[in-house]
Amino acid sequence: MPSRPIYDLRSDTVTKPSQAMRQAMANAEVGDDMSGEDPTVNRLEARCAELFGKEAAVFACTATQANQMAVRVHCQPGDELLINETGHVANFEAGGPAVLSGVSCRTIPGERGLLDVPQLRGTVRSDDQHLVRTRLVCVENTANMGGGYAWPLDQLARVSTWARELGLKLHMDGARLFNATVARGYSPKDLGRHVDTIAVCFSKGLGCPMGAILVGSKDDIRKARRIRKLLGGALRQAGIVAAAADYALDHNIERLADDHANARQLATMIAKIRGLRIDVDAVETNLVFFDVDPALGYASQLANALETRGVLIHDSGPQRMRACTHLDVRREDLPEVGRILAECVESGFRDRPGTQYGGFWRG
Ligand SMILES: *Cc1c(COP(=O)(O)O)cnc(C)c1O
Repeated sequence: MPSRPIYDLRSDTVTKPSQAMRQAMANAEVGDDMSGEDPTVNRLEARCAELFGKEAAVFACTATQANQMAVRVHCQPGDELLINETGHVANFEAGGPAVLSGVSCRTIPGERGLLDVPQLRGTVRSDDQHLVRTRLVCVENTANMGGGYAWPLDQLARVSTWARELGLKLHMDGARLFNATVARGYSPKDLGRHVDTIAVCFSKGLGCPMGAILVGSKDDIRKARRIRKLLGGALRQAGIVAAAADYALDHNIERLADDHANARQLATMIAKIRGLRIDVDAVETNLVFFDVDPALGYASQLANALETRGVLIHDSGPQRMRACTHLDVRREDLPEVGRILAECVESGFRDRPGTQYGGFWRG
């Protein structure tokens, strides 16, 4: 019996390296990166620094690691960082700021996972022995739980000016940064100008097996290297994975526009299914969030029903689902995905396993 196709829309983290990327990895020139002797890593770091208009860059294992390196670079124990209440650094990195840096996260409400000056105003504490020192602002681009929303450049400029006037540092968690540049048409340098450090993940939409980069000033990146070592993230012949990142920067950025178009098309199909609710216009990049009518059951039950029919979409809340398009989801697969979704909703899923607590957030 032919095996049934699986449509995996759980996350862009499920993307697998292509044959051409594997070829680039196999051919990579390598050395001991911890001694600064891996030419492929060195080239990638220089390329990324230049791309973002920064002085230096350091290769990291994951964006989580790069984010936590940045927190530790910018903050001292007892400091606090400001972040949108849905932010990855505060919510989905295993308590990293507290555990690794002794830093508390002050979460701020803000639309679509972003921050703006009106919400930030008044959050910086005065220099007083009673008070936590406010030190860093973290922004996320695209904002995952904000619906994959990309920062408008003028809003970033506003927040950056506000932060700099108050002597705060600004870090951008750009796990899906290139989805933002492709969707908005601004350049990595446009972003680099407004922030002190940026972390980018290579293993999401860019399709690499692993890797991330942290860019910033020479001094910040020198400190970050020491922290990377402390976190067990300093590598040896890392050129093999850096070559994948280098390949992705050449070949896998512009095509993110296809993922965005596919996400839009999927959203349009979802909008036609009775019992599901979606704001199609809010789908800007590759993340498609939609809500399940509570009268029909929980999102986790729908996820279970979909899985038995070969469509993998996770619940991300009691009634919320998140689908993610990526380079291993083909446009011609979408009608079938939409058909299965409609069929599952129509035939009911109340009998499926799942509870309101089934859902948790996915990378
Ligand atoms: C996935 C994600 C990360 C972490 O990336 P990893 O490389 O998987 O550690 C950080 N921030 C955001 C917004 C993410 O979506």
